[in-house]
Amino acid sequence: MNEATISSNGVVRPTAVTVDLSRLTDNYRAIQTAVAPAQVMAVLKANAYGHGLVEVARHMVTLDAPYLGVAFLEEGILLREAGVQTPILVMGGLIGNQVPLFLRHDLTITASSVEKLSQINEAAKEMGVLAKVHLKVDTGMERIGVHYYNAAALIEAALACEYCQVEGIYSHFANADAADLSSAQVQLARFREVLAVYERRGLARPSLCHIANSGAILQLPEARLDMVRAGILLYGVYPSAEAARTVAVRPSLSWTSRVVYFKVVQPDHPVSYGSDWQSDHMVRVVTVPVGYGDGYFRRMSGQAEVIIHGKRYPVVGRVCMDQIMVNIEWDSAYNGDEVILLGESGAAAICCEDLAEWAGTIPYEVLTNINTRVPRLYVR
Ligand SMILES: *Cc1c(COP(=O)(O)O)cnc(C)c1O
Repeated sequence: MNEATISSNGVVRPTAVTVDLSRLTDNYRAIQTAVAPAQVMAVLKANAYGHGLVEVARHMVTLDAPYLGVAFLEEGILLREAGVQTPILVMGGLIGNQVPLFLRHDLTITASSVEKLSQINEAAKEMGVLAKVHLKVDTGMERIGVHYYNAAALIEAALACEYCQVEGIYSHFANADAADLSSAQVQLARFREVLAVYERRGLARPSLCHIANSGAILQLPEARLDMVRAGILLYGVYPSAEAARTVAVRPSLSWTSRVVYFKVVQPDHPVSYGSDWQSDHMVRVVTVPVGYGDGYFRRMSGQAEVIIHGKRYPVVGRVCMDQIMVNIEWDSAYNGDEVILLGESGAAAICCEDLAEWAGTIPYEVLTNINTRVPRLYVR
């Protein structure tokens, strides 16, 4: 990528996120191969982990992904409005009178309680359609879902819901990315107990039983069941430092900007707000037009590094809303030169884990925090 990018409002912005679609393909295929015959749902919530909701969804369609997963109704609607026809599971909880919108857009609904299930059934009956439903069981996350010890009642209630097609039943791990998998094993055992209800009553299980997120894809082969829900791993990032890296993936997102200003800074002339950084010798400092208003965490002040011409340099002074300053000592850099905030250049690389460490957070937040002011470019 050598051109300044033009965002939707026509303004030239030298800062951009570049998504390598062929890496997404490789990652998807690697996960598919690892978990087969289980299917792979592509999780696209939060703007596809910062990669761009609609573009990533369209790419997943070309890969024949059987299912897409989002957190919220509006994410599902955006995909339908963009012409995506693949089944979409909305994993978040139902609120207010959303059911007719789900039905109108053919979105799969998460039924997380008996009351919500009957609300879904009533709305579907009124519209004269069949609602596609996945039952949600809480096996140890205490987020949404009917408790595993009450799940038989939800399964029972579903039998009476003529306007609900219960296509799936699922749960979610709290600790599948940890080194200690004992609590994940407990959750899986609880989920299996719930699934056994079907056998005990001589009922057919829903065709899609699923519980595995990225951590479980990597570490709990026995949790694959019918489908896995691949989020961060699809984007080439591992869910935690300690999770076993049993599937090889590579990051699909890079974030770059360009030098917008060059100056020589005299000793004892502080840089940026608060004046809390200064050099004791003369240095060259370049300014880069990106800041916390783009999602480049202010918390990284005094810790972050960037890559210019294949070499890492420190960000000095506080991260501003729209700009950062970089100390290149006595090296050279010119206006327009590329600055890598996240990504690789030759032997040098800055990964999501680096930014996460500097910001005191996790890679998930680094990716989802890059906001929509930053244009997204797609390469193959
Ligand atoms: C976000 C999410 C996932 C994906 O999690 P990763 O750790 O990114 O793989 C799967 N299932 C549910 C219910 C989620 O909310």
